Amino acid sequence: LVHPLNVCAIEVAADEGARILPLAAGRDDALFEHDGQITKREVRALTLSALAPRKGELLWDIGGGSGSIGIEWMLADPTMQAITIEVEPERAARIGRNATMFGVPGLTVVEGEAPAALAGLPQPDAIFIGGGGSEDGVMEAAIEALKSGGRLVANAVTTDMEAVLLDHHARLGGSLIRIDIARAGPIGGMTGWKPAMPVTQWSWTK
Ligand code: SAH
Repeated sequence: LVHPLNVCAIEVAADEGARILPLAAGRDDALFEHDGQITKREVRALTLSALAPRKGELLWDIGGGSGSIGIEWMLADPTMQAITIEVEPERAARIGRNATMFGVPGLTVVEGEAPAALAGLPQPDAIFIGGGGSEDGVMEAAIEALKSGGRLVANAVTTDMEAVLLDHHARLGGSLIRIDIARAGPIGGMTGWKPAMPVTQWSWTK
């Protein structure tokens, strides 16, 4: 028997030869439609691990981009729920298309700007902040909304956002990691390391 999610992956990838969707988070970036604003697969795998999805839980994915975090959360189990909040209309539409392609049409897309767009949403068990975290009131609104015992994970690629995360870590604890990934690629006729921008990740349980 073929799992329904894999049937969907086969259908969307039919012109490139059938591909089976892997079960683990950190799926290939190329499986997602994106404009470069996507949490790269290695960082995404670590992010989903830190978010630690449990059956039936609700995630807020703030600054959805391509929707890859919300989509991989939904793929963990058919009972999962996620709301992705994205300010750019074009990206919000892309998240919807990606959700359909991955067979998780239940992913809710809110087109709007955090923190205002967070008001009135159902209370989350986990929150990921991949964009907007250095804007006024976003971290505060997320921390306030999170269920007691819930997990918050925030990634920074800018020093502005990193400063926000260092401050939260100093005040609230939790764990802070730095993710430095390099991928091997062609350098002339040889192979060399192509470093990605380092990502600072703060994880905290309320
Ligand atoms: N995790 C995403 C990438 C995030 S890129 C992925 O894997 O695809 C950051 C995104 O945050 C961008 O799309 C940007 O438009 C969005 N963003 C920035 N500030 C925001 C805000 N205040 N509210 C909602 N979205 C925001």
